[in-house]
Amino acid sequence: MAFDDLLPGFLGLTSEPESAGDGVLHECRHCGSKFDAAPDRCRVCDSSEIATYEFAAGTTREE
Ligand SMILES: [Zn+2]
Repeated sequence: MAFDDLLPGFLGLTSEPESAGDGVLHECRHCGSKFDAAPDRCRVCDSSEIATYEFAAGTTREE
């Protein structure tokens, strides 16, 4: 399932640069690690609870 999700995004990078980078953030609910691409599991603590945040570029920041 995760692999299917990765492919369209991968191909989209070449034709739709607007979708690369800003707007989406994936964050582990357990340890708070952030990822550019949604991982199946957290690479840090192995939790499967990954939160996905979508926001307009520059409006929501939590750093
Ligand atoms: Zn984690």
